[in-house]
Amino acid sequence: MVRSFKPASLLEALHIRKDNDVMVYGGGSDVMIKYRSWSGTPAQFPKDVLYIGHLEELKSIDISDSEIAIGATVSYAQFLQDERIPIEYKRPIEQIGSVAIRNIGTFAGNICNASPAGDTLPMLYALNAKVIVMSTVGKREFAIENFITGPGSTCLKNDEILTHIIIPNKTYSHSYYCKVGTRKANAISKVSVFAIADVFKHQVTDIRIAIGSCGPTVIRLKDVEAKIIGSKMSDLDLMIESVLMMVDDKIVPIDDVRSTKIYRSKVALNLIEAFLIKELRQ
Ligand SMILES: Cc1cc2nc3c(=O)[nH]c(=O)nc-3n(C[C@H](O)[C@H](O)[C@H](O)COP(=O)(O)OP(=O)(O)OC[C@H]3O[C@@H](n4cnc5c(N)ncnc54)[C@H](O)[C@@H]3O)c2cc1C
Repeated sequence: MVRSFKPASLLEALHIRKDNDVMVYGGGSDVMIKYRSWSGTPAQFPKDVLYIGHLEELKSIDISDSEIAIGATVSYAQFLQDERIPIEYKRPIEQIGSVAIRNIGTFAGNICNASPAGDTLPMLYALNAKVIVMSTVGKREFAIENFITGPGSTCLKNDEILTHIIIPNKTYSHSYYCKVGTRKANAISKVSVFAIADVFKHQVTDIRIAIGSCGPTVIRLKDVEAKIIGSKMSDLDLMIESVLMMVDDKIVPIDDVRSTKIYRSKVALNLIEAFLIKELRQ
């Protein structure tokens, strides 16, 4: 018989985590599907569960001049409704699931699920997001790209809970998120691209690009970014062919139930070209 825990505080949750072999969950929109039972009986969890979705200590979005700290139980809907959050950070989140999923799903769940198709992840990689995890003995901080180690795998230890996600509080002159799925809404990405840039006096002064679903983890295109930063907008047309070749070398798409390697690779290059040649000009 699986036991379920509903702690009154984060401290109690951390002690339950330390003393028991439990699976933590927040919104439950991944775990309830993963362990669903088809016969209408309760979900078949492989171990005891620790519910943290109600913990007030993790439900706030704290904003300073330089950073935005998102608590682990902040839902996507709460994030979208917060008028202090820059609009460019909301674009990928608006495209996640449906209203119902956005009402319960969290960044923390998306990160710990560690799917290369997770819609928060290209943005978090591009923004150099940090992830804070806590246990009864203290906290650890990771860059998102170090925290996620492969499909479905992270650095989280058995006694830890992810408590916060930190992103910079900054706006950019250009931003882009394009997710290609089977349908326009409520579909998991076959390919996704998040990009932001600052263009000043027709020169690209900053650019970040990350691709989802084209490798075992989200891929950040740092070499491509370095090649483009400092370029004049008028040079982009001349550079585009070599840039796309660099992207093609970097991505490692696969054939799976959602799509094919060839489709993913073609669409990823098309999306990057659309951002660099079209969106950046607007
Ligand atoms: C119909 C439907 C549509 C969906 N559409 C999308 C979509 O468009 N894009 C997308 O990216 N995803 C989608 N998802 C997947 C899911 O909604 C997201 O991944 C969501 O962000 C998961 O958040 P959660 O809080 O519900 O995670 P949960 O199910 O609670 O947890 C997910 C995983 O993270 C772990 N975990 C959760 N919180 C913590 C924590 N604080 N500390 C440590 N471990 C933790 C859990 O143990 C589990 O392994 C969809 C799911 C459904 C059912």
